[in-house]
Amino acid sequence: MALVRERRQLNLRLPIPERSDHRPRFPLPLPPTTTTANTSTATSAASITSSDLEKLQVLGHGNGGTVYKVRHKRTSTLYALKVVHSDSDPTLRRQVFREMEILRRTDSPHVVRCHGIFEKPSGDICILMEYMDLGTLDSLLKTHGTFSEPKLADVARQVLNGLNYLHGHKIIHRDLKPSNLLVNDKMEVKIADFGVSKIMCRTLDACNSYVGTCAYMSPERFDPDTYGGNYNGYAGDIWSLGLTLLELYMGHFPFLPPGQRPDWATLMCAICFGEPPSLPEQASEEFRSFIECCLQKESNKRWTVAQLLAHPFVCKDPR
Ligand code: ATP
Ligand code: MG
Repeated sequence: MALVRERRQLNLRLPIPERSDHRPRFPLPLPPTTTTANTSTATSAASITSSDLEKLQVLGHGNGGTVYKVRHKRTSTLYALKVVHSDSDPTLRRQVFREMEILRRTDSPHVVRCHGIFEKPSGDICILMEYMDLGTLDSLLKTHGTFSEPKLADVARQVLNGLNYLHGHKIIHRDLKPSNLLVNDKMEVKIADFGVSKIMCRTLDACNSYVGTCAYMSPERFDPDTYGGNYNGYAGDIWSLGLTLLELYMGHFPFLPPGQRPDWATLMCAICFGEPPSLPEQASEEFRSFIECCLQKESNKRWTVAQLLAHPFVCKDPR
């Protein structure tokens, strides 16, 4: 029987502005899968079609479709297959094309690997990804409880390495949160879900569209009028990383008391007008300092990925 995972309660989405621009509309020819950045990936991608795969269970439902655990019938290799239905709305289609474009370009051990993209006869779009058997950091938090500092230092180091790769390739994730970080049984943490990410055309391209889950948005992204319309979107990912680590340590969304369901106005007040959340007293100095470097309300005071990778919190106990 299919296992359907519950969606997060924090699911406040802001609409993507309607655009009548050059974005593709379905049906469209899919980009060739053989241009995937990683050569070994490209080889396998070229040979896998939907008829090679057997669906085992539903892993989750996202905004963009359903993700299945699948097995390759001949090799028995497990994958995750994201299926986006052909009749989904244009915003969603834009997101799936964006995700496909980014996944095809990326080749990093800290970013979930794409093994192929194909279209079913029904018109559904399928993205075949590496299967991350422990699920998301969000689900681990729910099943195993809060994370210790050493574990979080390890998570931070891995996510920073992923962000270092993405930012180095001018990709801003824009939706970092515990449910978009996947884990496997080697405790490797990988960045996933590029539905609302953006590839920057210039080094400091303006990046001010309202997309993503607003709970983890930085103040300048939540309220661009107050914080300046054009900003450095890379710093927004750092804010989201800080909030994510804090949530994994505290066990609840850090801006609100445990159990409180946020609405847009509450989040707006907390994120834009309140003080950034800080760690409880028992946290170490290094961790406290690391979180402060991420959760600076002024984006230009936030540390960059390169600076954070040299921070004592992630450097003191290298594995
Ligand atoms: P949202 O649209 O709010 O970001 P989402 O992140 O849950 O939703 P998806 O990226 O479509 O949406 O993923 C749905 C769920 O499927 C995830 O929460 C995760 O539990 C599971 N999942 C996605 N990709 C993988 C993967 N590669 N390996 C294992 N599980 C996965
Ligand atoms: Mg997601």
